Order: sequence, then C-alpha cells, then structure tokens
Amino acid sequence: MPGFELFGAEEKKEVQDVLDNGVLMRYGFDPMRNGHHKALELENDLAKKMQSKYAQVVSSGTAALTVALACAGIGSGDEVIMPTFTFVASFEAILSVGATPILCDIDDTLTLDPKAVEAAITAKTKAIMPVHMCGSMADLKALKAISDKHNLILLEDACQAIGGTYDGKPLGSYGDLGCFSFDYVKTVTCGEGGGIITNSETYADRAHKYQDHGHDHIGNDRGAETHPFLGYNYRLSELNAAVGIAQLRKLDHTIAVQEKNYTILRDALSSIPEVTFRRVPEMGVESYAFLSIFLPSEDIARKAHKALGAHGVDACFYWYDNNWHYYKKWEHLLEPKSLNTLSKEIQTGLQKNNKSFDASDAWMGRTISCLIKLSWTEIEVKDRASKMVDAIQSVV
Ligand SMILES: *Cc1c(COP(=O)(O)O)cnc(C)c1O
Repeated sequence: MPGFELFGAEEKKEVQDVLDNGVLMRYGFDPMRNGHHKALELENDLAKKMQSKYAQVVSSGTAALTVALACAGIGSGDEVIMPTFTFVASFEAILSVGATPILCDIDDTLTLDPKAVEAAITAKTKAIMPVHMCGSMADLKALKAISDKHNLILLEDACQAIGGTYDGKPLGSYGDLGCFSFDYVKTVTCGEGGGIITNSETYADRAHKYQDHGHDHIGNDRGAETHPFLGYNYRLSELNAAVGIAQLRKLDHTIAVQEKNYTILRDALSSIPEVTFRRVPEMGVESYAFLSIFLPSEDIARKAHKALGAHGVDACFYWYDNNWHYYKKWEHLLEPKSLNTLSKEIQTGLQKNNKSFDASDAWMGRTISCLIKLSWTEIEVKDRASKMVDAIQSVV
C-alpha cells in the first residue's frame, strides 16, 4: 500500500516546480507562481480519476472526513453510524463537528454489516459512514438502499481503498461524498493530505469555502473576499499537492503491482483448508492494499500471527489487539476522555457505545491482514508466500 515506495523523479519534478517559484500556498500570489496551481491541478486530476464531478483536496484524511461531514450539515445533536473496525480518525472527525459517533457491528466483509446499520438507526441518525478498510469495500448497494429509505447521507471513508471499485465505480464515488487520505503510509501519498469527492455542486462549493476559513474565493484580492459562513483552515500546501500529482498518476500501476503480489500470496494460502478469505461484496473489486484472512478460531489466529513473526514475515496485523484500529482499545471514546468538556448530548449519546459487539469480536478475533508492498521482487513475494504457508501450517 505505501505509495512512498514508488517515490522517484516524477515527484521531485513536481515539487521542484513549487520550489522554483517559492509559492507554497494554493491561494493568491498569482504573479509569482509561474502558472503553477498544484492543489488545483491535483483536484482536477482526482475528480477525473475518481469519475466524480468535483474534488476538494485538504490537509489530511481526517480533515477530509471533517469537511465532508460539515458540508452535509452534520453537527450538534446528530448521530453518525460508523464501524467498530476503522482508524480512530472516523470518530475524531464526527466528534469534531459536534456530532455523536455510533458504533456498529461489522460482518465478514470487515466493514459495516447492513443489517446492524439498519438496527442502529434512530430519529437522530444523519449519516452512515462505511469505511472500506484494508483495500476492500462495504456492501454499498445495501447501504445505499438503507440511506435512501431513511433519507441519510452516505459518506464513504475510502482512505485505505483508493483504486478499488464497486459496480464499476471508483470507491468513494458511490455515496453522496467520498474521502481519501494521502498520508505517508497510504496508497497515494502527499506526505500529508486528503481529498473529498462528490457529484453535488452544493457540497463541493461548501467544501471549497469551509476548508479555507469560509473564503468565497471570488476575485483576486483575498483581503476583500467575503465569508458566507464559518470555516476553518484545512488547506493543503502546494508542496504536498505537488507530490500527490505525481503519485496519483502512478495509481493504475500501483494497483496492478498490488494485485500481482496479493494474488501470489492468496494462491499460496488457498492450499491451506483452514484458511478462508474476507468476503468481497458482489460487484466489488479490491484495491489489493492488504490480504485479509480468517483462521478457524481466535486462539489459532493469535498463534498464526506469532508464527508469522517467528518465520520472518513482517507487516502482518492482528487488528483485534490494535490500539488504533479496533473499538475495544478506544477507552478515550468509550469513557470518554476529553481535554475539554463534551456537551451533555454527546456524553449521553456516546453511552450507546458501551455495549458488546459480539459479531465484530468474532470476525476480528479470527482476522490477520497482511500489508501488500510495492517494492517486493517476485522472488521476495514467492519466498514470503512459502514462509506464510509454513508458519500457518505449523499452528492449524
Ligand atoms: C488514514 C486513515 C484516515 C485518516 O487519514 P489521515 O490522513 O491520516 O488523517 C481515516 N480513515 C482511515 C480508514 C484511514 O486509514
């Protein structure tokens, strides 16, 4: 997955354009910038690549989620349904707009279980936020039907799945809004950065203003611009955007390499009857950022994870015990622990999350995900495949 593995002359050239004129900010300074508008160029490229009408780049994936929620008018008193398995950024973004994250079980897709989502909907629910974890997607058709039925916003967190598709559409482009992260370890990286895609002119216009203090971006004098509504600063710098331009151009190649490496590992592991694979919803094509497998039990999964390490196979994750990606370790959300006082409404709302998520525990307890790297040679992947088979066979 990490796009940084493919850093090269292309990224350097784009960054050099910015260094040559010295304009590091995306707005203003037109006479000095020698025609370079890297953030704008990245937005145009992203919209095109993601088959969406509009794209907005911002300073991180977390910022993308925050801006997307704000654009959809989500705030105080609203509930947003999110999965138990995701990066903590999902609940941070929801809390940061004043809304309440409501945890919801996952199924064998390792993403939101549509049945559990339907059961979690209340009069306060405003949005469903599926997270396409580890390169594969939620059952978007089912989630779209639920959102339409209850008049909810469908916001895709595609931060870990850029390049995957569903029903022929790029992940992120199926819902009302889609978000990407371009942080250092993602498939496409800007160093730090994020992107929002949408087909809604209204959301796109709001995003454009909200991520820059509410600036209306009319005319050439920033000081004279008006502020139709409150905004914040989630701007992406020209330097970061420049890296992203070169990285995004490599996306098809990146996905092809991931698919090749993934397939070698998957074919090898298919020889072990006790190993099964994460379910990819019908009509979905993965980005192949990770290969996620199920072992027959939690006990065997723990042993397999240890054995993989002992056999020298790195970059395999047992998320069930992870501090950042699974709800069980999120005491700062569940208690909650906050530096400032959260509203009574949020505190009450968060209490809904203090329950057991048995279905999630059952799937995650059995899951191991292996990162697919881009820099492996074919010999290295084959060697890894045989080590993985040996490691897992030693415990099943
Ligand atoms: C990385 C990530 C984010 C946040 O992105 P940042 O750019 O690191 O802020 C959000 N959601 C998921 C699923 C992620 O993996």
